Amino acid sequence: MAKPVTKYVCQNCGYSSLRWLGKCPECDSWNSFVEEIVVTDRRKIASKTKGIIDSRITNIFKVSEIDITEDKRIVTGIGELDRVLGGGIVAGSVVLVGGDPGIGKSTLMMQLSDKIKKNTILYVSGEESQKQIKLRCERLGFAHDEFYILSETSLEIIAAIVDKLKPEIVIIDSIQTIYRNELESSPGSVSQLRESTAAIIQIAKAKNISFFLIGHITKEGFIAGPKVLEHMVDTVLQFEGERTHAYRVLRAIKNRFGSTNEIGIFEMTGTGLVEVTNPSEVFLSQRSKGISGSSVSASMEGTRPILVEVQALVSSSGYSVPQRTATGFDYKRLAILIAVLEKKIGIHLSKFDVFLNIAGGIKIDEPSIDLAAALSICSSFKDSALESELLVIGEVGLSGEIRSVSFAERRIQEAVKLGFKKILLPKGNLKNFKQSKELEYIPVENIQDAIRLTI
Ligand SMILES: [Zn+2]
Repeated sequence: MAKPVTKYVCQNCGYSSLRWLGKCPECDSWNSFVEEIVVTDRRKIASKTKGIIDSRITNIFKVSEIDITEDKRIVTGIGELDRVLGGGIVAGSVVLVGGDPGIGKSTLMMQLSDKIKKNTILYVSGEESQKQIKLRCERLGFAHDEFYILSETSLEIIAAIVDKLKPEIVIIDSIQTIYRNELESSPGSVSQLRESTAAIIQIAKAKNISFFLIGHITKEGFIAGPKVLEHMVDTVLQFEGERTHAYRVLRAIKNRFGSTNEIGIFEMTGTGLVEVTNPSEVFLSQRSKGISGSSVSASMEGTRPILVEVQALVSSSGYSVPQRTATGFDYKRLAILIAVLEKKIGIHLSKFDVFLNIAGGIKIDEPSIDLAAALSICSSFKDSALESELLVIGEVGLSGEIRSVSFAERRIQEAVKLGFKKILLPKGNLKNFKQSKELEYIPVENIQDAIRLTI
């Protein structure tokens, strides 16, 4: 038996050190080091490594020999999830599903288990008893709850059961509760997360079983041990949204088997998550027309254009340093837009608080909604409403110029579908469009023109 060795591991990135450090040299987080006991039995490690080498050495191919036919996928039937996964679940893939506690990760995974009926599914919960899960299934109104439930946290036992049951899909809820007997550190620590995930990946690849690992996000907004786990798994999905809002966005941060641009949108209801197949309609449904500080823009989320309402509130500040708050919009871009408006339009916002919000709780990082944000701010400042049937697209440059956006046609089509009659767009985008009676295009070159023509 080897002597236990103590080391200190950063719980954020997995960096390890022989002594305690206040600040992690790798990821710069403070107070992230936790003492962990590592048992290093060199002989055991050597034999394990040899096993891996033996299994990999036959795995070398010439480029011409590599099979590039589509990976076999299991279509879940939940369209929004299938799209984010890139067309379904790839056999033998390991998917990490991250998100705040209580956001609906377990609900989504249970609904997935209920939906796929042809395949054997094992749902492993380290947080709830089998009875609790059964009650949850009943609450969600499952008609065919024919999947297996296991309440277990020991990876060795889970592996033995997987071996016996031979499921096609295994869901682990959550990876933070799973531990390996060999390690002495507590479940949820970086070493346990890393070792458990590594063991799961080995099972997945060797037996061609797909795994979903639920991971809770820590206060800092990362999946605990984020860098470690993100690099190991095939796909990382993030489930976002405000607990108090009904809408949830499922986003792929990494996807070895598909694009990372696609998002899936769900609504949380009393009976579980419901797919939102017409997001534009839903996001604009609560818009009140004819009020100042509101404009509509179109953002491309993957292959899908989504219309969103950009709301701004400019009010005189009671503080010496005025507040700037952005919800669903990049804070730095808001600061830039305010600076451009001050410099080019001459409105002085230094004595005003500015709040910017994308309605519906969705987060947009596309610059094509810049112009809409700038117009909303200006509209609120002047307390003058924009036309309600106007769609605004365009990126705002530092000198106030309006830059072209990609996929303008797709964005405009979506707006036309929802009854928009006027399109304010960058001049550079106009060449593709012809004015018509039904649809009026307003091309602009700079922010000054945009404001003069609309507010
Ligand atoms: Zn670190």
